[in-house]
Amino acid sequence: MRATRSAALPLLACLALSARVRPLLVRPGARFACADDGLCCTDMHVLGPVSRTEARRLRVIDPESVTRSEALDVAMLRTKPDGHCTFHVRDEADPSGRFLCAVHAEHGAMAKAASCRRFPYRLIATPMGGRIATEHRCPCRTMGERPPIEAEVAAASLVDAQGKLMVDARVEQFLLVTKGKRIAFSSYVDLERVMLARLAAGHDPLDVLAQPPFPRLSELTWSDVGHLLRQRPDGTACGEALAWLGDELLRQHGTPIRPLRGRPWSPSFDHAEARTPEPESPEAMLADFVADTLWSLDWHGRAPFDVARADLATRVVLARALAESFVAAGTRADRAMAEAIHVVELAGASVLWGAILKHIRLAA
Ligand code: SF4
Repeated sequence: MRATRSAALPLLACLALSARVRPLLVRPGARFACADDGLCCTDMHVLGPVSRTEARRLRVIDPESVTRSEALDVAMLRTKPDGHCTFHVRDEADPSGRFLCAVHAEHGAMAKAASCRRFPYRLIATPMGGRIATEHRCPCRTMGERPPIEAEVAAASLVDAQGKLMVDARVEQFLLVTKGKRIAFSSYVDLERVMLARLAAGHDPLDVLAQPPFPRLSELTWSDVGHLLRQRPDGTACGEALAWLGDELLRQHGTPIRPLRGRPWSPSFDHAEARTPEPESPEAMLADFVADTLWSLDWHGRAPFDVARADLATRVVLARALAESFVAAGTRADRAMAEAIHVVELAGASVLWGAILKHIRLAA
């Protein structure tokens, strides 16, 4: 049920004939700069995967630093009782009390696991080049001053020790748009271009996605999904985020729920809010998330495009509802939406949500 740091495990670049990584492509409007908010170094997702070689090296620095995620069957970094990575330490030289990564500070960026170096970037090889996408479960991606992403800056995070670009996923020549129907990648890009332009122009993401939220599920209901999301609290920020979404799903489907839970990710958003004097429009933040989710082609291989749009429409409705709850609890509106996006993106990357996609049945 936990989400990994990247929705797909990074694969060494092994390019098929049609999919390639050059030229590198950045979605216009995508912006990011690390502001040390620190959320990415917590148990809001599995801190991994960590390869065997990386684990061997990290254990030299700290023999107890690597453990195993039973749920995902991958090696991961161990977290402290407060949920932070064991290498997330206070910078003793900085009077402001800043935290840093001890591995990076003492051994350099390349000593970190690839999953640490890459976050929040992802690289998807396509027939037209390598798409650089970003995860939005990080306030450094969703809040505050952020310069437009530059391809070569991102590429520095996406290479292996030999300087070779590593891909997270590969999309070949044809894409499944609905059950039984594939279209050429170039035709998909034409469709997507119109959707991205409408999102950038301020159209409601639900109109752009053009699929109703909460599609019919086979063998279970959305209330069942809500219960499943709430059933396995494991004491992590990720578990709490999924439980929040479960609460909201139940509320949307008429089941009374207990009062508000804690938000263990709050310190990172406190930091982000303090460095963001000019709040952004929550709806623009939501549109940016939807645009990047489309651009990431994350749905490819998991579901046809129409199912993916219904899934995304569902998560848009849930994000708005969660943001409303956070505002009602006194949270600033932009931060509330950033936290809601963090929750719905985490859910989308979880094993459970991937299984739910297979139960979606769209009307003919
Ligand atoms: S190793 Fe460093 S970058 Fe990776 S999770 Fe730990 S503190 Fe963060």
